[in-house]
Amino acid sequence: MKIVKSVAEMKNLSLTYHKCGQTIGFVPTMGALHEGHVSLLKIARQNSDITLMSIFVNPTQFGPQEDFEKYPRVFEQDCAKALDAGCDVLFAPTVSQMYPDGFSTYVSVEGITSKLCGISRPNHFRGVTTVLLKFFNIVEPQIAVFGQKDAQQVLVIKRMVRDLNCPIKILTGPIIREPDGFAISSRNKYLTEKERSEVPQIFEGLKKIMEVYENGEKKAGVLKEILLNKYHSLKHIKMEYADIVDFENLKPLEILNTPSLVAVACRTTESKTRLIDNIVLGGVL
Ligand code: AMP
Repeated sequence: MKIVKSVAEMKNLSLTYHKCGQTIGFVPTMGALHEGHVSLLKIARQNSDITLMSIFVNPTQFGPQEDFEKYPRVFEQDCAKALDAGCDVLFAPTVSQMYPDGFSTYVSVEGITSKLCGISRPNHFRGVTTVLLKFFNIVEPQIAVFGQKDAQQVLVIKRMVRDLNCPIKILTGPIIREPDGFAISSRNKYLTEKERSEVPQIFEGLKKIMEVYENGEKKAGVLKEILLNKYHSLKHIKMEYADIVDFENLKPLEILNTPSLVAVACRTTESKTRLIDNIVLGGVL
């Protein structure tokens, strides 16, 4: 596995692959790798010749009160995991390589970025799309793979790729979960013991409404109420939002007669960890 830290070196390497006719499958991450990231690498491998992962804790997608400083950085461990997962190239640029002095250009998808997570994280998606367009220009992958775990992010990226004619196919991998159903995330390390024992309830709530939906209930109001009732009794988790929305505009639905995203975000009360999860009803993301 090649480890590349400079943008210029990465551009040259990509050019070499292109010249040899090898396709690049790209998995962008912020590191602290886990089974979710590894599953995306597998999808990249199945769909391209060269599997390329980036590790970059992107400052522009964190708000001023967020966890940029304390975000887990475990580069040596990540290298071992990426190698083990069959990664061919690990691209880990520094902040100054990605954002040199005088950096002043941003990419902003409008509308859908101000819904759901965009309400409490106003500049988050602008940071995500800016860094990803930069990565796409540096790496020039034919394919990029993202997790359904960050469902709104997937829809925002697909919109950017469509609107700006990026020659890249976006693939989505399913949410990888712990045996108790809790969605795996690099931020789960922050949780206290009490919080950890309660967080599987987040997916339990989603599973419950999946079951009710599959038994024929299509009214969003009824499904949402079941979810909120379930979450209401939790001691260590405060809901930020629980919404059932369409894929196109992330608009709340009344009747689920199109593919629908049930997305939840919450914060734990002790460690103040922000957690998100979702399910898709009647389609795929
Ligand atoms: P992150 O390092 O948290 O920015 O995530 C990098 C990529 O991994 C994103 O596309 C995430 O959606 C994806 N990802 C994170 N957690 C999971 C998970 N539990 N299952 C599948 N993909 C995930």
